[in-house]
Amino acid sequence: MFDYSIFAQELENLKEQGLYTYIRTLESPQGAWLVINGKKVLNLCSNNYLGFANEERLKNAAIKAIEKWGVGPGAVRTIAGTFSLHEELEKTLAEFKKVEATIFLQSGFVANQAVIPAITNEKDAILSDELNHASIIDGVRLSKAMRFVWKHRDVKDLEKKLKEANEQGARRKLIITDGVFSMDGDLAPLPEIVELAEKYDAMVMVDDAHGEGVLGSHGRGIVDHFGLHGRVDIEIGTLSKAFGVLGGYIAGKKELIEYLKQKARPFLFSSPLSPADTAAALEATKILQESDERVNRLWENAKYFKNEMRKLGFDTGESETPITPVMLYDAKLSTQFSKELFNEGIFAQSIGYPTVPKGKARIRVMISATHSKEDLDFALEKFEKVGKKLNVI
Ligand code: PMP
Repeated sequence: MFDYSIFAQELENLKEQGLYTYIRTLESPQGAWLVINGKKVLNLCSNNYLGFANEERLKNAAIKAIEKWGVGPGAVRTIAGTFSLHEELEKTLAEFKKVEATIFLQSGFVANQAVIPAITNEKDAILSDELNHASIIDGVRLSKAMRFVWKHRDVKDLEKKLKEANEQGARRKLIITDGVFSMDGDLAPLPEIVELAEKYDAMVMVDDAHGEGVLGSHGRGIVDHFGLHGRVDIEIGTLSKAFGVLGGYIAGKKELIEYLKQKARPFLFSSPLSPADTAAALEATKILQESDERVNRLWENAKYFKNEMRKLGFDTGESETPITPVMLYDAKLSTQFSKELFNEGIFAQSIGYPTVPKGKARIRVMISATHSKEDLDFALEKFEKVGKKLNVI
C-alpha cells in the first residue's frame, strides 16, 4: 500500500511555513460582496473586473444558448464539427481586438500551452520575462526550443539574450511577455520590446489576460493601450477575468490561426467551450464594444483605492493597473493579515510562494467596477485598522 503520509507531512510543512492556501467556500455568486460561512464579506479577490460574472445580459445569453444548442459540444471541433456560435465568438473577438483572426481554447492557461509548442521546435529560441505567468512557463517547457529568460522588464537584458540566440543559430525567435504582470500590476515595456523584435527579426507574443477589459479604448488591451496594432504577432486572452466567463483565446494573423487549428494539441485533442460559456463570452464582447462606461468606473475605483492606501502608508509596489499588491513580504504576516481582514468582513486572500517569489508575500487587492465608493471606504477603514494592529503602518 502506498504511503500517503508523505503528502500529509508535506501539507503540514506548508502550513508551518504559512504557505498553505485555505480555499474559501462561497455561498453566493461573484460580485462586490460575497456570502462565506453565512457571513456577508466585501470581495477583494476576484478578477471579475467589470462585474460580468453575474451580469443579466450574459446570463440571458447563456440560457438562450442552452435552449438553442444544448449543453455540450459533442467532441473536439475537428471531429464533431463546430457550432456557428463558436465561430461567431471568434469573429467578434477578432473585431474587438482589431486583428485578422482568433481561436479560442478552454482557458487562458491552455491558450499559452497551445500556441508556444505549436510554433517552436529545437531549432528556435524562446525569450521569456522571468516573471511571466505559470502557463507561459509550462508552455515553454512543452516546447523543445532553446530558452532564454530575461530580467523582469529589462529590455537591455532582452537585447543581450536576442544576440545570444542569434549566436546559437536560432532559426525563429519568439519573445514572450505578460502584458500586465498578474501579481504586481506593472506593465510590460511593450513598445521597446516591439522595437527590439523588429530589429532582431523576432516574433512578439503578449499575454493580455489582465489587460483586456482594463487597458486601451473600451478595454481592448495592452496593444491598443500602446497603439501597437499590427506590430504584435500573438495576443493571448482569457475569457475568465474581465469577460466574466471561462475560456481563453489566441489572436493574430489569419495564417497563424489557421495553422493552430491544424497543429495546436489542446485544440485537436480537447473539446471546446460549452454553448453557454460561448454565448456569455460573446455577449461580454458586445457590451465592451458598445460602451466603455464600466472600464472607466474600474479605473476611477482603482485610482481612488490605491491613492488612499498609499496615504495610509501601505507599500503597494509598482502597480500601474487596478491590481493592487499590498506588500507584506513575510508569508506568515500576510496570512495573519488576511485572517484579521476576514474577521472584519473583508475577503482579501494572502498570496505567497510559489505564486510569488519567496519573501514577497502580499495581499493582492482586486478592485472592480462594481465596488461602490462606500465599499472602498469600508475596505480602507479595515486595512487601516488591521495594518495598525499588526504594526504594518
Ligand atoms: N495568463 C495570465 C497572465 C494570468 O494571470 C492567468 C490567470 N491566472 C492566465 C493566463 C490563465 O487564465 P485562465 O484562468 O483563463 O486559465
